[in-house]
Amino acid sequence: MVEADIKGLQVHYYSVCQRKLWLFSKGITMEQTNDRVMEGKMLHERAYPQLEQKEILIDDTFKIDAFDGEYVREVKISSKMGEADRMQMLYYLYQLKQRGVEKKGLISYTKERDTEVVELTEAEEAKVIEALAGIKRILQRPRPPGLKKLRYCSKCAYYEFCFAMERDEEC
Ligand code: SF4
Repeated sequence: MVEADIKGLQVHYYSVCQRKLWLFSKGITMEQTNDRVMEGKMLHERAYPQLEQKEILIDDTFKIDAFDGEYVREVKISSKMGEADRMQMLYYLYQLKQRGVEKKGLISYTKERDTEVVELTEAEEAKVIEALAGIKRILQRPRPPGLKKLRYCSKCAYYEFCFAMERDEEC
């Protein structure tokens, strides 16, 4: 896998749960039926009515919500996964920089009515490079990373997949 094949969503999942990253990347997808994901998709469709250029596909690899002057914009429902959102944005900024385009990022959180500015400093760029190496290592594994219960699990589309046996044992 080359760096350019890594999707923004995979960078997000890497920051949330490495097991989720592995399952998703191996084609075990359940996100489409997840209400939260559908909600997110609708949010993206309605966002930025004032901007003409929305959902921009860069080199057939990653999709950016919108460009707004010197900013790349992303809209999220809430800031619960703020660190993962930041990493995803940093990845976009990094990929753009590789193509000679230097931008900042703006992440808008509709629930909190807040906007975070993201800048690709040298230190942040190093974090992105480290994350990409980590993603490649995880995807080379023949099996998914072990199960660790996270605060986020009950909201995850893979919850049934990961915890079905545990639930059966409780019954
Ligand atoms: S349910 Fe939890 S452990 Fe399983 S993929 Fe989702 S976040 Fe990771």
